[in-house]
Amino acid sequence: MLIRFCMVTAYCVKCRSKREIKNPKETKLKNGRPAVKGKCPKCSTNVFRIGKME
Ligand SMILES: [Zn+2]
Repeated sequence: MLIRFCMVTAYCVKCRSKREIKNPKETKLKNGRPAVKGKCPKCSTNVFRIGKME
């Protein structure tokens, strides 16, 4: 089964669940891998996900 992410989601440690990333921004890790960072729309905690935006 192919899993596609239509939204950019990340795990929020405060909500203890997956949330859509608010204001997602692409970034890169030190090892050059792409990542997306942003904020949880509910509690404004910084959330982070490894991978590209799409
Ligand atoms: Zn949250």
